[in-house]
Amino acid sequence: MVDLHLDGVSKRYDGTAALAGVDLDVADGEFFTLVGPSGCGKTTTLRTVAGFEDPTEGTVRFGDREMTGVPPEDRDAGVVFQSYALFPHMTVAENVAYGLRFRDPPGDATADERVAELLELVDLPGTGDRDPEELSGGQQQRVALARALAPGPEVLLLDEPMSALDARLRERLRRQVKAIQSELGITTVYVTHDQAEALAVSDRVAVMHDGRVEQVGPPEDVYRRPERRFVAEFVGENNVFAGRVTGRDAAGTTVDVHGCSLRIPPVDASRDDRVTFCVRPAALDPDEVSNRLAASVTTAEFLGEAVRVHADWNGRELVVRLPDAPDGERVTVGFDPDAVHVVGTDG
Ligand code: ATP
Repeated sequence: MVDLHLDGVSKRYDGTAALAGVDLDVADGEFFTLVGPSGCGKTTTLRTVAGFEDPTEGTVRFGDREMTGVPPEDRDAGVVFQSYALFPHMTVAENVAYGLRFRDPPGDATADERVAELLELVDLPGTGDRDPEELSGGQQQRVALARALAPGPEVLLLDEPMSALDARLRERLRRQVKAIQSELGITTVYVTHDQAEALAVSDRVAVMHDGRVEQVGPPEDVYRRPERRFVAEFVGENNVFAGRVTGRDAAGTTVDVHGCSLRIPPVDASRDDRVTFCVRPAALDPDEVSNRLAASVTTAEFLGEAVRVHADWNGRELVVRLPDAPDGERVTVGFDPDAVHVVGTDG
């Protein structure tokens, strides 16, 4: 297996900067996810690693091998795309064997043995003679995975492989993909716009925005300690507040937000400096006595295990998670200063 590196990778299409200086280091055997909104450059990054696109600037390396000018078929990477891209006129076994067209199976296995082994791995034993259209969407995507893995690649690249499936199937397939990835220990780059999926499956996540990497880290870090406002708002729901420091003492900092005085933990900022901080919806609590915010309810959505309330507080939207729907049109919540995560300060 191999580690993977992107150094200063930029990609421009006729004046559009799809990627603007992407640096990434993916460890050997890591499940690494690129996540971000539509158009942020995830697919372009993956296609650059696969060799379907050449960077305008920068380099891609597999271990210490620079990949500039190396065609996709010589990169030792298996790719699975969003659409199943199986050949309808070929059987399942022929589709998997197609993955071996450029390369012999690893070890001493014959092509037939390798196909059977891969179908076993993706939990579709004995389906080799079937036509792809006889299989469900999730099964077809597992055949596509078997095809990508057939030559024993060093790197697995997955571009939104679950997005055509319904929610329940998607969840099952992602667990299966994760289990197969762990079993093989294959270096994997996974693209998704779904931040919950990214948090669930990854060893580390890179959050992308406008062709750049905003933050890289394990899921817990990116969720609990976002370094920028974009990450705080994209990864999970959040309430982001921006205000000016009006006072500070050993116990904390006072910030004026929309004319309301809020207490947050001590921060390294002076009076009148701008501070941006966030509080997760579940930390806004009707029983909390600190930092009381009175808001008018806009919508309340029943989620099963909780109710998500959108409310207007001084002209800005608050998202609150409550055990039950609020009684009436107003909701008043508070938050403990310890529940605050400070995203940034500038003087
Ligand atoms: P999505 O989740 O919608 O697939 P993405 O994050 O994968 O989005 P990319 O497909 O990498 O984003 O696109 C990044 C930017 O580059 C977008 O602005 C897109 O319009 C542009 N782009 C991508 N491919 C091309 C191309 N072949 N020609 C021109 N512009 C392109």
